[in-house]
Amino acid sequence: MTKRPIYMDYQASTPVDPRVLKAMMPYFTEKFGNPHSATHMYGWETEAAVDIAREDIATVINAQASQIYFTSGATEANNLAIKGVMQAYKGHKNHMVTLASEHMCVIASAGACANILGTDVTILGVGKDGLVDLDALDAAITDQTALVSIMAVNNEIGVIQPLADIGKIACAKGAIFHTDAAQAFGKIHIDVDAMHIDLLSISGHKTYGPKGIGALYHRDDQRLTIAPQMHGGGQEGGLRSGTVAPALVAGLGAAANIAHENRAQEETRLKNMTARLLGKLAAAYPAMIVNGSCDQRWAGNMNVSFPNIDGTRLLADTRGVALSSGSACSSAKGGVSRVLTAIGVSEINAKATLRIGIGRFTTDDEIDQAADIIIKGLQGQKKLII
Ligand SMILES: *Cc1c(COP(=O)(O)O)cnc(C)c1O
Repeated sequence: MTKRPIYMDYQASTPVDPRVLKAMMPYFTEKFGNPHSATHMYGWETEAAVDIAREDIATVINAQASQIYFTSGATEANNLAIKGVMQAYKGHKNHMVTLASEHMCVIASAGACANILGTDVTILGVGKDGLVDLDALDAAITDQTALVSIMAVNNEIGVIQPLADIGKIACAKGAIFHTDAAQAFGKIHIDVDAMHIDLLSISGHKTYGPKGIGALYHRDDQRLTIAPQMHGGGQEGGLRSGTVAPALVAGLGAAANIAHENRAQEETRLKNMTARLLGKLAAAYPAMIVNGSCDQRWAGNMNVSFPNIDGTRLLADTRGVALSSGSACSSAKGGVSRVLTAIGVSEINAKATLRIGIGRFTTDDEIDQAADIIIKGLQGQKKLII
């Protein structure tokens, strides 16, 4: 039997925490009722589980339970936020602003709004550090701007956008601020009130919860209306019809709780492991480039380019570690990363790039093994190339 590679692709997905799995189990078996069934105990007990999870998720971002709407994931939450706002504001405000480094589902939702609603979309570039230029953002927002959609933590290069500053600018100009927090929820400090965040997208499987569940935080504000994108029984306050999945929701709730309680501790642990791995790689390959801001970044993400290395072989040469060269979506298509292009990385270096993602279940031993495997891969090539 071949040994499974060391998992270092935590930005693509995280394993389900065993405590999360335990919290979900009863809702796959004896507690199977429809949470919207109001006439008997089967419905009440699943409804109660959904209510508790809603509370736990809201706590993480300093929101109220009534402001959390369950979706199938962050892709759906982003679609709902962006299409929902632009549809609701059509004919009144037709402009939105987003970033070139956003996840494909944000860029594609903006594109769909342009095609279907005639939305005027401004896509701002980012600096070499991957961060938004706040002056450029301020200048881009007009009295026609309904929405600013800027992610919290980038899925490829891990940089953390200045959410409080963005919120302040959007709020002062009367624009709605949506943030895709798929990579940020439970990992960095988020306070939707202090940061003036109106809409925020969450994904279960990026935070040790199950796949197929996510949520949209929607501020309670009469000026903020969004058009539902899924019509039917009127669940989730009419914003997202369809039976809520109690098992998945209970999993997301448990994941939120665990992340919230261990956030600071986990971040310190990851920072130390990241420093250790990067130190080893840099010592073996001094020309290595770390992509994106070095200080404004999530500790579990490393995105590094190796100049003079044949990128087409890099993943094959480091097969003992489960890695990617960009987002899971771009690796499926095999193109050069949009995000690396946006921060000015050359095509040849972009191809010779590894996204190394570590997380809750990564061990020091795995860090050392992974360093050895990657360094061996690089050295094998160096003999051929240099
Ligand atoms: C994974 C991810 C998404 C998509 O989330 P799903 O829950 O898989 O639909 C969106 N945005 C970012 C930044 C992500 O990392």
